[in-house]
Amino acid sequence: MRIDVVSIFPSYFDGLTLSLLGKARATGLLDLQIHDLRNWAGDRHRTVDDTPYGGGAGMVMKPEPWALALDDLASSGPEAVDRPTIIFPSPAGELFRQKTARDFAAREHIIIGCGRYEGIDERVFEYAASLGEVRLVSLGDYVLNGGEVAAMAMIEAVGRLIPGVVGNPESLVEESHEDGLLEYPSYTKPAAWRDRSVPDVLLSGNHGAIAKWRGEQQLERTRQRRPDLLSD
Ligand code: SAM
Repeated sequence: MRIDVVSIFPSYFDGLTLSLLGKARATGLLDLQIHDLRNWAGDRHRTVDDTPYGGGAGMVMKPEPWALALDDLASSGPEAVDRPTIIFPSPAGELFRQKTARDFAAREHIIIGCGRYEGIDERVFEYAASLGEVRLVSLGDYVLNGGEVAAMAMIEAVGRLIPGVVGNPESLVEESHEDGLLEYPSYTKPAAWRDRSVPDVLLSGNHGAIAKWRGEQQLERTRQRRPDLLSD
């Protein structure tokens, strides 16, 4: 899978050289390219923002550098991909969920455009739709300073679903949100620690009883912490 990220702060993404995703990049499972939007700016100050039409606080990202960046990146992806998926992190977008991550993990070429300031000139989204499938995606109902942290969260959630990135594929299946529920509680050694014991059933060796207990815990946890998931 190829992911191109466009940002005015490329070094935000340095963390994605570490751990499982770093390894996936090194072994070629994930081709992640980070680009500086200012490389497509047309003036010597490499300007990417301007004042908003209609007035108001803050600055808006100019359309020209974005269009040039998208033109270049949309035409430089994997040969088999005619139209990339173009994601713009936005607090005004659809909510990013595990099923969104699964959907994106099946794509071969994704471009992520990270907004800053008050966001990107609206016409960029219309233009991008002529090049690929555009998705405005929100990390949650709050406002971040820029799209970089949201992009990193999405890349990590999507990247770990690429076959081979997580060593044991079994560990993906049982996780929170995979079946619409939260995961059951986990324990490791020692069995007794600071007056707290691991639930007896987990020490019983009875796989049927363990599976039943875990299923009950998943339901109970979800009911308590995220009842909204049960009505989805
Ligand atoms: N004025 C915009 C609004 O009210 O919808 C918010 C702009 S925000 C300060 C700057 C950038 O941060 C956005 O263009 C987007 O890329 C990113 N961003 C902020 N909150 C986000 C969220 N919850 N999910 C994804 N991206 C977010």
